[in-house]
Amino acid sequence: MKRTKKSFSTVADVRDILPKDEVWWDMVRNTGEKVSTLHNFHFIETPIVEQAELFEAGFGKGSFAAENDLCTFTIGRGQRLTLRADGAIPVVRSYIEHHLGYFSSPLRVYYHGPVFRRKGNKIQQSNQWGFIIIGDGDSVYDVSIMLTLLDFLRTLGFKDPVVKVNAAGCKVCRSTYRQKLKQYYRYRRRSLCEACTYRYEHDPIRLFVCEREVCGKIRADTPIILDYLCQSCNGHFQNVLELIEDNEINYVPDPYLVGDVGYYSKIIFEVYAHADASKPFARGGRYDYLAEQLGGRQLQSVGGVLYLDAVVDALREREEKLNQDEKPRVFFVAIGERAKKSSLSLMNDLRQHGFVVLEALGRKSLQAQLKAAEKSGVSVTLIYGQREVYEGAVMVREMDSGTQESVLVNMLISTVRKKIK
Ligand SMILES: [Zn+2]
Ligand SMILES: [Zn+2]
Repeated sequence: MKRTKKSFSTVADVRDILPKDEVWWDMVRNTGEKVSTLHNFHFIETPIVEQAELFEAGFGKGSFAAENDLCTFTIGRGQRLTLRADGAIPVVRSYIEHHLGYFSSPLRVYYHGPVFRRKGNKIQQSNQWGFIIIGDGDSVYDVSIMLTLLDFLRTLGFKDPVVKVNAAGCKVCRSTYRQKLKQYYRYRRRSLCEACTYRYEHDPIRLFVCEREVCGKIRADTPIILDYLCQSCNGHFQNVLELIEDNEINYVPDPYLVGDVGYYSKIIFEVYAHADASKPFARGGRYDYLAEQLGGRQLQSVGGVLYLDAVVDALREREEKLNQDEKPRVFFVAIGERAKKSSLSLMNDLRQHGFVVLEALGRKSLQAQLKAAEKSGVSVTLIYGQREVYEGAVMVREMDSGTQESVLVNMLISTVRKKIK
């Protein structure tokens, strides 16, 4: 009987991060840690699954996103769980659950990890790095989130990031604006796509997120939220713009900016690598009602996320590596059984002195191991054979010139360090 072997692959639209991209991911993660520390954010990590109701409440009960974008499944006796669909919602949940306001007020936290959204039959995974400041409504914090994200991008070598910014309104002025939008779309709704028809009924402000051409055309003459802001929201928006200008942030107002989730209030923004970039690298805004939506008291907070996959793709294209304080690398070649046996402790010693030690000890011959050393791109290779074991020395080979010298083991570290510099 013929047996067919099944081979597995990743689920549609999610991907592996492979060793070939390690250098880029390292760059992003190291920068993230550095920037988070410099801007005084503390680390927080929430689980990859939560109760489905949490995200439904966070996205807005009955909203298009809550109905369509969540990866929800049932276990046990009808317990509904959802894969983390957003970074901020679980953090605010955790803040309420653990009374994190006692820890510091406002609380400044950062997090990183994957976020999952359903798009039709596919799951989209996006790896994000987020910053949140919980417990203060001052516009100064809106701009410090922007500055943190900009610092992140600039440290990665993106020289001219641009911030697009819009007002999001509050409960009061947002509902006035919603009425106006509904009026505008009333006679045009037959031309809208299916998703937008749903949005028209439930959350007309989110009509702007549609990327379809038909819906884009209708958008051109819509009323804009800036004309309907209440005094408090208008004041907040003007304060943010002033701070943006004081800090010389490159920005453009965008009246159609509404973000990817419905919980934003007062201010919303996106960060682009440069003025012509089509996809945002980062997104954020204020979410003063989110805690209430999740069953807590009102808690003013503001945050933003960096989309790491998009950033890594751009870095890879740019191909320009950062001068990170990289550890010196050496390649260790050992020939013969005795040399191999004592090579482990020598390599360990090098590692403890901060060297990254590469090897190909599985290959028997000197030639094959040297070939691997060449391929690895190191500048110095250490060769340890019968004779070296006997003499208590190691042959140090400079790969560019091919010159080698025998160095006593107790002089090895200092000699190699000199040669690499
Ligand atoms: Zn308002
Ligand atoms: Zn549409």
